[in-house]
Amino acid sequence: MNTNLSSLNPTKLWKNFESICQIPHPSKKEGNIIEFMKNFGEKLGLETKVDEIGNVIIKKPATPGMENRKGVVLQGHLDMVPQKNSDKDHDFEKDPIEAYIDGEWVTANGTTLGSDNGIGVAAAMAVLESTDMQHGPVEALFTIDEETGMTGAFGLKPGLLDGDILLNMDSEDEGELYVGCAGGTNANASFNYKKESVPANIKAYKLIIKGLKGGHSGLDIPLGRGNANKLIFRFMRFAASNYGMKLSAIEGGSLRNAIPREAFATVVVPKTNISDFEQSIKEHETIFKNELKSVEPDLSFTFESTETPSFVMDEKTQKNLINAIYACPNGVIRMSNDMEGLVETSTNLAIVKSENEQVEVLCLLRSSVDSAKDDLENMVESVFTLAEANIVFDGQYPGWKPNMDSDILKVMQEVYKNKWGNIPEIKGIHAGLECGLLGGAYPNWDMISFGPTIRFPHSPDEKVNIATVQKFWDFLVETLKNIPKK
Ligand SMILES: [Zn+2]
Repeated sequence: MNTNLSSLNPTKLWKNFESICQIPHPSKKEGNIIEFMKNFGEKLGLETKVDEIGNVIIKKPATPGMENRKGVVLQGHLDMVPQKNSDKDHDFEKDPIEAYIDGEWVTANGTTLGSDNGIGVAAAMAVLESTDMQHGPVEALFTIDEETGMTGAFGLKPGLLDGDILLNMDSEDEGELYVGCAGGTNANASFNYKKESVPANIKAYKLIIKGLKGGHSGLDIPLGRGNANKLIFRFMRFAASNYGMKLSAIEGGSLRNAIPREAFATVVVPKTNISDFEQSIKEHETIFKNELKSVEPDLSFTFESTETPSFVMDEKTQKNLINAIYACPNGVIRMSNDMEGLVETSTNLAIVKSENEQVEVLCLLRSSVDSAKDDLENMVESVFTLAEANIVFDGQYPGWKPNMDSDILKVMQEVYKNKWGNIPEIKGIHAGLECGLLGGAYPNWDMISFGPTIRFPHSPDEKVNIATVQKFWDFLVETLKNIPKK
């Protein structure tokens, strides 16, 4: 196993990455690497501080003749995802990462590598210690805990940094520039119901929707996959008004940021209507399968008979709940006008769950445009207010609206074209990035995200392509040379 990373080019970057691998730095346990970065800055004689959250900021003045350039913030996150193969003996809080060269890639022996985002951090370090580069005023911003809540970016205070341009180095495909991401809001609605006794002459059923693909509630939302909550309530609205169905319990979805794959309801139906009721379940399965046939081939909607439950929900709450879930917006609300194929605003009706005389409804709203997210919040609030539910919103974080007129975007496209002949792909992502949060604290920043090619991040197969690290570094060096004047 060739573990000599400093034999690779650019040597300075790889040498720093090698040092990072020696220091355990899983998310939430960044103490050692914070200390290391602080010493690194101080040893270079640069202005260095650790903010109250644990983010490290190191400032380096412009090189001679470059003082009139706009200030650049070079940003990466200090933490890494700790994942290992089950047969690998490794303590992420104590043991160094065993990085090695495997053909065209660098990978780690049985664990995540931490090239996400160690390569970005190592690049910023190489700029800070360089004596042969040309650059304007540079500030390195090393955030903590990107992978498990972005608490570093959340907690960054305005006023600590003076730059005008943010270069985030946490993307995973060389040749792509990211210029936008989504912000988010959690919507939490709740209905309080009264337990009522189950009427006589009924039959009890368990309704089961399953076999849906689910997926990430942001990245996969434009695929138009089925939402188990929406489907089961669509049927229940029909069955309540046509067959006198009464709802006792509901459980749909499991994670707020996942499209719900399964939903289960316990209901009762008057015995006089059971054959129509059962028939209509089959009909609805056919309708659902037909509507979603190209995206949800394994969808199934079935029933089982079950024990008579001890109660049903009071009629008014049942009606309000069913109407609210049926009416609540879900899926893509609007596509971006700035970038083809990018979702601007969406929502995922993630969880509906009854327990202890309460039904909780949890949604995750996303948008790259903050005012559009506010508008969607109000829309969801209106639905649940009409249905006499309580609703609160929390966990708000800002989005990053693509700015196709961005100066740094123009500079980087030009630099790339001059050096490699083609124009990099411009992309946005319908999920949260640190850039959204950072831009919330520093609204004046012109931002871009780029990086080398990383495959299988967050898994023990994580690897970074060596040639693209060189290309990423050359791109960074050339960009810094070409930063516009103030
Ligand atoms: Zn990352």
